Amino acid sequence: MHISDWFSRKPKYAVLKPEKKEIPEGLWTRCPKCLEILYNKELERNLKVCSKCGYHFKLGAWERIYQIVDDKEFYELDGNLESVDALPFNDGIYLDKLRESKEGTGLNEAIVTGRGKIEGFDVFLGVFDFGFIGGSMASVVGEKVTRLFEYGTRDGLPVIIVTATGGARMYEGMLSLMQMAKTNAALSRYRKKGGLFISVLSDPSTAGVMASFASQGDVIIAEPGALIGFAGPRVIEQTIKQKLPEGFQSSEFVFQHGMVDMIVERSKLKSTIGRIIRIWNKRLKN
Ligand SMILES: [Zn+2]
Repeated sequence: MHISDWFSRKPKYAVLKPEKKEIPEGLWTRCPKCLEILYNKELERNLKVCSKCGYHFKLGAWERIYQIVDDKEFYELDGNLESVDALPFNDGIYLDKLRESKEGTGLNEAIVTGRGKIEGFDVFLGVFDFGFIGGSMASVVGEKVTRLFEYGTRDGLPVIIVTATGGARMYEGMLSLMQMAKTNAALSRYRKKGGLFISVLSDPSTAGVMASFASQGDVIIAEPGALIGFAGPRVIEQTIKQKLPEGFQSSEFVFQHGMVDMIVERSKLKSTIGRIIRIWNKRLKN
C-alpha cells in the first residue's frame, strides 16, 4: 500500500436511505398549525378549516365566492381589466410576476369582483386572492374596488369585500399608493348615499389595503387567527426597539382592542353577512 493511499478520500458511495413516506399529492394536506394530516376531501367539506384545531387555510378568490354566494351563482364584473407595466424601472420583472401569477391562479388580477346573492340579498362582492402577487393592490385592483363601490351607489346595494392582502403593490409605486385615496373616496361617496359596506378580513389583511377601505367597514368581520395590521410585527419591533405583546396583530388581539367588530368562523360567515344585511334593511324601513 502506498502512503498516499492513507490520505486518499473515501470513495463516494451513493447512500441509499429508505424513502421518506411522502404525503401523496392531492390526497392529503398537513395542517401548518397542529401538523395533523387532513384528508383533502374532508378539508374541502369543512370549507378548508382544520377539523382538529380550527386553523383557517387561505382560500382562492373563487373558492371563497362559491362558499358564500347563493347557488354558486356569481356574475363577474370588470374581469377583463389587466395591469400594464407603466413604470420604466421595473426592467420587465413586473411583467414576469404578472405572468406567473396569472398562470398560478387562473385570474387576471388579485381581486375578483361581481354581483351575486347572499342569503337571498343582492350584493356586490369583491374577493382578494393572496396567490396573485400577495393579493396586492395596484391600479387595476384599486379601480375594481372603486367601481364596486360605484355600482353599489348606483343600485343601492350592500358591498362586501373579503381581503387577503399584503398591501399596496410595490411594482407600481405611487400608482399603487394613490389607490388608497381613490378607493376611500369612492367608499365615502357610497356611504353618503347610505350604503352598507361589510369588510371581511382574512389572513393576512395588512398594510395599504388595511390603511384604506378595509378598515372602514360599517361592520368589520375577521376570520379567526388572521394576521391583521398595518406594518408587520418585525418592522414595528425594529422601529420602536421593543418586543411586541404575544399574539399582537392576530384577529383575537385586534378584536379585544376594538379594531374589528366580530370574529366569525368560516362556517358562519355567509349566515352572519345575511343577518347584518337583514338588520340593515330593517333599519332603513324604520
Ligand atoms: Zn390543525
